[in-house]
Amino acid sequence: MSVRQIYLDNNSTTPVDPRVVDTMVPYFYEIPGNAASRSHPFGWQAEEAVDYGREQIANLIGADKREIIFTSGATEADNLALKGAFEMYRRKGDHIITLETEHKAVLDTCKKIEKMGGNVTYLKVERNGLVDLNKLRAAITDKTILISVMWANNETGVIQPMKEIGDICAEKGILFMSDATQAVGKIPVNPKEVGVHLMAFTSHKMYGPKGVGALYVNRKNPRVKVTAQLDGGGHERGMRSGTLNVPGIVGFGKAAELAQKEMHEDAARLSVLRDKLQSGLMNNLEEVYINGSEEHRMPHVTNISFKHVEGEGLMMTFNQNIAVSSGSACTSASLEPSYVLMALGLGDDLAHSSIRFSLGRFNTEEDVDFAVEALTKGVTHMRDLSPIWEMYKEGVDLDAVEWSAH
Ligand SMILES: *Cc1c(COP(=O)(O)O)cnc(C)c1O
Repeated sequence: MSVRQIYLDNNSTTPVDPRVVDTMVPYFYEIPGNAASRSHPFGWQAEEAVDYGREQIANLIGADKREIIFTSGATEADNLALKGAFEMYRRKGDHIITLETEHKAVLDTCKKIEKMGGNVTYLKVERNGLVDLNKLRAAITDKTILISVMWANNETGVIQPMKEIGDICAEKGILFMSDATQAVGKIPVNPKEVGVHLMAFTSHKMYGPKGVGALYVNRKNPRVKVTAQLDGGGHERGMRSGTLNVPGIVGFGKAAELAQKEMHEDAARLSVLRDKLQSGLMNNLEEVYINGSEEHRMPHVTNISFKHVEGEGLMMTFNQNIAVSSGSACTSASLEPSYVLMALGLGDDLAHSSIRFSLGRFNTEEDVDFAVEALTKGVTHMRDLSPIWEMYKEGVDLDAVEWSAH
């Protein structure tokens, strides 16, 4: 029995590239060393492999390899950057600015920092998902030590004006932190070019293995430090203790090397497929809306609302065949509408009817054709059953209807 299964949820995690797996295998068997073991060749070889991986990752983002701190993933890197910088610099000030549309790894960490005595401003974004730079400027006080803005949004793919924000931070002498998890390896990302001082990213969103990520920490002008959040052997320049995940780092490094070589080709191909998916759905169906800026957006992502159709229910119609997500993976267990889309000012109805499609290196044109057909059928089916849709088709002004029974 083979059911065709199509994976269009690459923003949740990507499959590992087979070329990545190949490089990792020896580090499970022949070279089992701990990179911190200095007394035998197994340790030296492991250390060499880590060093090479660090260099491949640093090269991808135009950094020095001494600026890469390995972590277990982007969640840990976000925690280390935000809490670590807050603890390190709180004598200077206690205020942090971030966006309402950030990933929970940033938002929940900021909530914790508030409990630790910090003040955090959560800025609204515009309807297109972008931060308004004037509002950002206006939120800065003489106590502001850090601004945290994600490079690209995981739900909408919207890319923030990183250089402009970096210039504001430089002018005001504020640290600039970015969760760049969704951007690294997919589009050119260079923290030094835009003035980012701390940057979190992860291997499993760029065709590497799960359980390994990194924090970029700017070394010069300014020399940035973060207070360690784990105490132990003092690995990673004292910023992150714990035995390094050698096979994971080897794979992460290879994934970075492949991304550097292939991202332009991948992006060009995937943006054609993404556009085909979008236009296919818009041609087949009425009342279809794209969420977030189309101009400032990742090439492989589209977030679409199918008005008067409930996103979770829609997913049930093709769940066995097509993997997508409604809301973000982390919140889609609940039936709350996506807080990211709500922050863009979408009404409940459009937020509830949204689906995120995120394509990846292993998707084909056939996948997209299959998805357009399945979605078209699913949406049509759901609307056929919907009294709301019937009223809409009869020309009833739904906004003017007084619904009884709340
Ligand atoms: C996936 C993701 C994370 C979490 O990364 P992990 O490596 O799974 O901890 C953080 N931020 C963003 C924007 C993400 O997309």
